[in-house]
Amino acid sequence: MNEKIIVFLDWDGVVNNHDISCALPNKLSDKFNAQEDNPPLSPIAVGFLNKLCADHQEIRLVCSSTWRTHSKAEIVSTLKNAHKRLIAASGLEHIPYSIKFHAVAKNSWRTPYGRDFNDAIRGKEIDAWLHHYGDEHTRYIIIDDDNDFFPWQLPYFIQTDPFNGITLDDYFKLDDLITSLEPAKQMRLDFKPV
Ligand SMILES: [Mg+2]
Repeated sequence: MNEKIIVFLDWDGVVNNHDISCALPNKLSDKFNAQEDNPPLSPIAVGFLNKLCADHQEIRLVCSSTWRTHSKAEIVSTLKNAHKRLIAASGLEHIPYSIKFHAVAKNSWRTPYGRDFNDAIRGKEIDAWLHHYGDEHTRYIIIDDDNDFFPWQLPYFIQTDPFNGITLDDYFKLDDLITSLEPAKQMRLDFKPV
């Protein structure tokens, strides 16, 4: 039985946020993030994501952001760099890095992209991923600051405020949602309109 919980994760407005992007002028941003090509992620939002993954070890992330056209190595490094900054800021050396990506296939760490999805809502990419990799045991949630999802996906969706990314309040909602997931209900594709 596949016991993994899939977390479809957006980047901008979820693990990145306007506070981080706007508070640091470019020069300072370069100093704080000399090792990064991409805008810095929020150590706080990534910290809550990391805690969620530590509390639910069966979580596997799937990147559903426009960032998914980057390499997996780049995507992982953005999270690890934010985690390092959280450790540096908190002074706590032993916060285990617990974030894992879905890895059953080369590209299963991200939702599909390309011509078929250029003008589509994000829910279509998530549906396509679930049709390809999911089965009747699959449990999933969606974390995004936008809400362009299908009606049957909305019960499993937590919307973040793009100015904050994942907050403590979101963490509690995510924890409750993950605890209440019932796979048989989630993959009832016959509920969908034709
Ligand atoms: Mg976003």
